[in-house]
Amino acid sequence: MELTIKASTIILTLGDITRETTDAIVNAANSRLAGGGGVDGAIHRAGGPGIMQECRKIGGCPTGQAVITTGGNLKAKYVIHTVGPRYQDGTRNEATLLRSAYLECLRLASKKHLRSIAFPAISTGAYGYPLPEAARIALQTTIDYLSSHQEIAQIKFVLYNQHSFEVFTEELEKIKDSLVSHGVGNTFH
Ligand code: ADP
Repeated sequence: MELTIKASTIILTLGDITRETTDAIVNAANSRLAGGGGVDGAIHRAGGPGIMQECRKIGGCPTGQAVITTGGNLKAKYVIHTVGPRYQDGTRNEATLLRSAYLECLRLASKKHLRSIAFPAISTGAYGYPLPEAARIALQTTIDYLSSHQEIAQIKFVLYNQHSFEVFTEELEKIKDSLVSHGVGNTFH
């Protein structure tokens, strides 16, 4: 499923982000950049120890921020490590922090003149963020960003299982419908 915003395309796909050929892939890291399970473990395993060496030099990353390393042995040239919020009860600034995590990745990608970036569903695994709300925030943040920045041509969401893919697809459908009803002139596929 795709949505075109001005000169850029948002793509939803089912798969393993470590196999992506985008300029950068995003890692859902922890604030110590210490590696872990889930997508973080998969990226370090596939990318090799060089990425962790760079992370150690950087030292850490506060929740809602992002840092960049090379992609090591990955096909992607860079890994952007961001730290999403741990979901507690929805009153601990989780939505703002999740939005910020996506936004800081996009800003770093623009700063580095990257043309394509792939995101996992940040915070929706070990950090427990409810999937529909996390998907809505992820998609709305990228759409808002692309409406004022055209330098990134392609933003992919690489969903690891059928359920996440379906939830992201439903949320993107809803956003498309509301864009149409507000008369925003985008091209849909
Ligand atoms: P967090 O701590 O931010 O919740 P997780 O890695 O536990 O991070 O989960 C984030 C999301 O990444 C989950 O939806 C999980 O299914 C997904 N995920 C796990 N491995 C991969 C992978 N190799 N590629 C893409 N997504 C993945």
